[in-house]
Amino acid sequence: MTSAGRRPAWWSASVTRAALHAIPPGGARDRWQQELISELYGLSAGQQVRHTLGVVTRAPALRAAVTGRDRIIEENIMRKPIRCRLHLHKFLVASTEDGSRFLRCRRCGKEDPGLGAGHWAGSLGGGGSA
Ligand SMILES: [Zn+2]
Repeated sequence: MTSAGRRPAWWSASVTRAALHAIPPGGARDRWQQELISELYGLSAGQQVRHTLGVVTRAPALRAAVTGRDRIIEENIMRKPIRCRLHLHKFLVASTEDGSRFLRCRRCGKEDPGLGAGHWAGSLGGGGSA
């Protein structure tokens, strides 16, 4: 008998399985149960205690991640570059058909209505590096 193939203690597998009932029934719960119980194989008794406590304490966060509403709008958010989501746009000068100029983000296309012509023109190209 090697420790690598040792089966998890009954209490460890049972508590892990029970804690994951925080996740609604379905594929997500089944996957998490399989994964987290399989991680118990080969662990010492002390490691099983730590692993099981970790699952119990993180089960609510796992539930929130699985059932969160933000999963629904994830697709839209993912299309926008992360720096733009943090309002760190890369504004460049663009011009309309009639020749007036404005600032538009190179990455997401957001236009900056806050700065009028002349306000920014003087600072462009001046460089900030010493
Ligand atoms: Zn942007």
